Parts: sequence; structure tokens; C-alpha cells
Amino acid sequence: MARLKILFVASECVPIVKTGGLGDVVGALPPALRARGHDVRIVLPRHRQAKSYPAEVLPGPLGVPVGAGTCWTGVYRAEIAGGVPVYLLEHDALFDREGVYGDASGEFGDSLWRFLFLSRGALELCRHIDFAPDVIHVHDWQAALVPVLNPPGGPATVLSVHNLGYQGIFGVGELPRMRLSPEQERDVEYFGNVNLLKAGLTRATLLSTVSPRYAREIQSADGGAGLDGLLRQRRRDLVGILNGIDEARWNPATDLHLPATYDPDDLAGKARCKAALQEELGLPVRPDVPLVGLVSRLAEQKGIDIFVDALGYLAGLDLQFAVLGSGLAWAEQVFDRLSATTSHFRARIGIDDALSHRIYAGADLFAVPSRYEPCGLTQLYSQRYGTVPVVRGVGGLDDTVDHEVSGFKFQELSGRALALSLAWAADCYRHRPEHFQQMQRFSMRKRMGWNRVAAQYDALYRLAIARRRGRL
Ligand code: ADP
Repeated sequence: MARLKILFVASECVPIVKTGGLGDVVGALPPALRARGHDVRIVLPRHRQAKSYPAEVLPGPLGVPVGAGTCWTGVYRAEIAGGVPVYLLEHDALFDREGVYGDASGEFGDSLWRFLFLSRGALELCRHIDFAPDVIHVHDWQAALVPVLNPPGGPATVLSVHNLGYQGIFGVGELPRMRLSPEQERDVEYFGNVNLLKAGLTRATLLSTVSPRYAREIQSADGGAGLDGLLRQRRRDLVGILNGIDEARWNPATDLHLPATYDPDDLAGKARCKAALQEELGLPVRPDVPLVGLVSRLAEQKGIDIFVDALGYLAGLDLQFAVLGSGLAWAEQVFDRLSATTSHFRARIGIDDALSHRIYAGADLFAVPSRYEPCGLTQLYSQRYGTVPVVRGVGGLDDTVDHEVSGFKFQELSGRALALSLAWAADCYRHRPEHFQQMQRFSMRKRMGWNRVAAQYDALYRLAIARRRGRL
């Protein structure tokens, strides 16, 4: 099959910059597409976090029209796994900041201009480096203006929604300064606001999201975050493709972050990881007590309030908890207090990739009580490490966990329901160890790599190209 030229535009890409699952996907899908023979390249802003990643500066600068003037832009070229080129657009006034989307004082107020810069910059860059993509694959609201700015004869575009809860909404007063045509302004305007995701969802040739169930949920009033009407209109152009995981980076048999390695045929190393994690966090070192892990942004979406409620219900059971996360101030405080005042609960507040690996490996159970979850990666990583997930049956969690086969599922959004499910799972760990180990081995052997996923995106790109050329 013909080799495609594919341009990714996004705000995050592992290992250069990451705040969540989006970064994992943008860092892993392009190498898998390149392994299929495609010419894939990625465009990112040169966030401060990205500056420590090795890159060479290209001849420039590149002029990107934003607001009333032109942003003069340094262009850097880096490479990620598989030799995939990443172009980093440098404009320090917009991106040389402590956080990616905000800092301790809140979200950045100028993100409209930051990501208008990214979208215009990506299209300018193609001319600058003489790269004419067949398809541009854009991710989330930060890159959602690309399909709108794409000229009529331009390439096909695919917009992937990693989380419909974040849309890039700004005051409509900004519209005149965006230098858009009247038609583009209509795409961007939504109920008296500027809404970047809505604009991309209107204009992209095809749409995707990160699990089949989430693709259905976002077409409903409950799950549509105000965009369900538009998504229903475009339902024939929308598919759900499950994320994969990077099976090399997330592999308990080779993981250098772990004190001991293991595989589905021999779980002895997992017991050593559990003991080491208990010791590291200051929990009593006991093999018999079920240890529940949680690695998460501490955000409302993730059901952190439900988790805290569940802790109350579970107080009488002999369980331990290992938590890693950062976000909501109230949740950080509750977790700090529990860590200081109880012997069975320990939380580390912050972002710590190495510790996350040790929790995926060292825990027995893993809690994912999300309100909604587009795909979710943590339940996939925990399965890969033989740590049985206890998840709410929504979105990608429902698609990737089979009850009593690869994890435990509950439905009701309540601390009580999560507590019951965790208690049931802990009971299985204690009293049905053979079944528990069968679940661990089954999950660890599941194939979750990106090859299967890349084949699905490959088909989607070809469909988008045919559609753009008016052949379908
Ligand atoms: P989301 O993108 O909505 O945050 P996902 O489950 O898709 O949720 O992806 C979360 C990713 O971020 C996973 O790779 C998880 O291990 C990682 N992660 C979340 N919180 C932390 C943290 N505090 N430290 C390290 N990694 C984290």
C-alpha cells in the first residue's frame, strides 16, 4: 500500500513533554505508523519542559501570523523512538513557562494565542520544510484550529478527541484579533464564545476518539459536554479506536524502575516489588494484606471524591493504599493528612514517573473510579503489571476491563459502590487466590501494543484522504 505522509500536531509528546494520556499517545502512535512504512512527523510547541530534550536548531526563523503581528519562531528538530522527527516551535513569550497549561495561580489567560500560534505555525512549517502531508492528524482543542485554517486544496484532516471535557473556550471579544474569514469565524463561534474544539469538530474531514464506548457516550446529552448535538450530526464521520500502550516501556520483565522483574509465568518478583513499595512508602511490610494503588490526576473527572468516600466505608477492613497524584488542593490535603495520621495509607503528592511504575508493579489492586473516562491508560498499565483494576464501567474502562476476568467493575457513581467493589476484589485476593492469579496472568498476557491500533488509524487516514478528494 502507498506510503503516506502524515503530520501530527499536538501539545504533548512523550518523552519530550507530558501532562497526561495525550502525551503517551502522541509519543507512541507515530513510531508504530512509521514501522508500517509511513513518513510521520510531529509538531509541538517548545514548552519549557521540552527544552532539556536534545534537538538541533534549523535555519529560520519562521514567521507565524498571530494577533496583530508576526511571531518570529525558532524551529528545532528532535527525534523520538523509531527515528520519528519532531519539530519544536519556539516562541518563549508564549511557551517558556513553568507549567504547560497553567501554573500555581491558575490556567494561563493567553492560551487562545498560544494554540492559535501552534495551529498556524504547523501549517507554515510544512511550507518551511517543504513537507506536503497527505493527512494532518490533530489532537484535542490545542490543535483543533488546524482543520479550520487548512486551505481548500489542503490535505485531509483527522481530529482525535482525547477528552471532551477540555474544549478551549475563550471570550468572543477575541474573535476580531484572530484574523479569520467570516466562514472560519462561524466555525469557531459557539453560543457566544470562541470554542476551538467545536471548530475542529465542525471542520475536520474525519473524527476519532479513544474508545468505542466513549464515541457513543459523547453523542448523548449526559456525556456530550454541550457538543453532543454536533457529534450526533457527525456520527457517520466519528469512530472510537482504543489506545494501545508502549509495551517496551511498560514491561514488568524488563522495567529498570523496579527492584525486581517478573512475568506471567513467575510472579515471585511481583511479591518483592510489593514489599519494596511498602517499605519505600512507610507502610507495614506485609504480604497478606491487599495493597490498593491509585495513580491519577487529582481532578473531579477521576472520581477522587468517590475514592475519599470509599476510604471511610473501608475503614474496618484490613487494606493498604498507595496513592500518587497531584491536582485539586483539597484532595492533596486530605491525602497528606491521611498519610500522617494512619498506618495503612500513604500518598505522594506530585508527578513521579518512576514511582508510578513501582506502584503499578507493587500493588495488588488498582482503583479507577472515574466519572467519565475517554480511554484511560492506568487500568491498562496495571493489567500489564498483573495488578487487578477495580474500575467504574464507563468509557474506555468498560471497553478494556472484563468483570472477574481482567478486573472488577462497578456502575454507580458513589463511594459505597467503589468500596463494595474493592472489598469484593480484596476478598478474591484473600480467599480465591487461584482465581486472582488467573486474572493476573490473563491480563499480563493480553496484547495491548500499538501495532493493532496503528493499522486502524492507517485505515482511517485512507478513508479521510478519499473523502477529502471527493471520492467517497
Ligand atoms: P488522563 O490523561 O486523563 O490524565 P490517562 O489514564 O489517559 O488519564 O493517563 C494518565 C497518565 O498519566 C498515565 O500514564 C499515568 O501513569 C500518568 N500519571 C497520572 N498521574 C501521575 C503522577 N502523579 N505521576 C506520574 N504519572 C502520572
